[in-house]
Amino acid sequence: MKIDDVLNKTGSGELLSRDEMVFLLDFPSDSIGTYMVMAEANRISKEVSQGKAEVHAQFALNLAPCSCDCLFCSFAEVNGVFTASTALSSDQAVAYARQFEKDGANALFLMSTAHYPFERFLEISGEVRKNLKPETTLIANVGDQSIKSALKLKDAGFSGVYHAVRLREGIDTTLDVGRRRQSIANFREAGLEVGTCVEPVGPEHTNEELADMIAFTASFNPAYSGAARRIPIPGTRLAALGIISELRMAQIVAVTRLGMPRSVLGNCTHEPCTLGAIAGANLFWAEVGANPRDVEAKTEEGRGESVISCRSVFQESNWEVLRGPSRFYNRASSR
Ligand code: SF4
Repeated sequence: MKIDDVLNKTGSGELLSRDEMVFLLDFPSDSIGTYMVMAEANRISKEVSQGKAEVHAQFALNLAPCSCDCLFCSFAEVNGVFTASTALSSDQAVAYARQFEKDGANALFLMSTAHYPFERFLEISGEVRKNLKPETTLIANVGDQSIKSALKLKDAGFSGVYHAVRLREGIDTTLDVGRRRQSIANFREAGLEVGTCVEPVGPEHTNEELADMIAFTASFNPAYSGAARRIPIPGTRLAALGIISELRMAQIVAVTRLGMPRSVLGNCTHEPCTLGAIAGANLFWAEVGANPRDVEAKTEEGRGESVISCRSVFQESNWEVLRGPSRFYNRASSR
């Protein structure tokens, strides 16, 4: 296989095969081959998003030890990071949301842990929705849902969700892969756009596993796909496996872009970095409050980036940032 042939294929809009993605992922991260892939992914990302990157902003409605025990998550009971539960009041949630709206985030994400009461999630979301501009894009980041619950999210004013089948789901988590996939199908059936990601990538994941996951995310035409590395939670079993470099993450971000159809406008990476942006990432997240990658209860005092700092990383990488509601999550209306 030759890299020029693979890049010519994706350049003409054809989807890459699993073997071709594995071939690209096999290049050393600091090789000319990888830099060619990153440059091509950047070109395609700019083409499909008309040169405009987006910054989405997330806050959690609660912080609680979670019995789903995803080994990479600071909320997992088994990791013993957080032992007490706290939850935002409606007023606090509205204040966070309005601040993000004022900061100019292109979409606002409301997150909760898997066992947070769904009716309460809807109730607070309703308050948040009422206090935002009608055009502000609201996204839910919640646990697995039935079609009935997915429809309720749509009715509550959400444009979409974030949902992913995580790498080694069912092995590094107690969740069922089939249920994760079914939830994605349910959200789509309810008319919600689904954003997703190949995550959380650690050094132990093989190129074949990554290629399979890229292909899975492409299969349901998400609002965006992308790649995010695992942030080690100190003292945990997965932390002992280490962390991939930002450059390796950028390589995976770039291959993910090449593995998506052109109808997928977004390509995310987390945490925000210039290497990711030059490799074709056009979506970053700002975060406040509880964050599953942080051991600080208020991630703005820890790892969390702000809307302003995310914009600045894009600008340093020669990306303009969209002003206004997300195009990734509003594909139907922005065509
Ligand atoms: S990732 Fe979500 S479901 Fe898994 S432990 Fe963390 S909060 Fe629970």
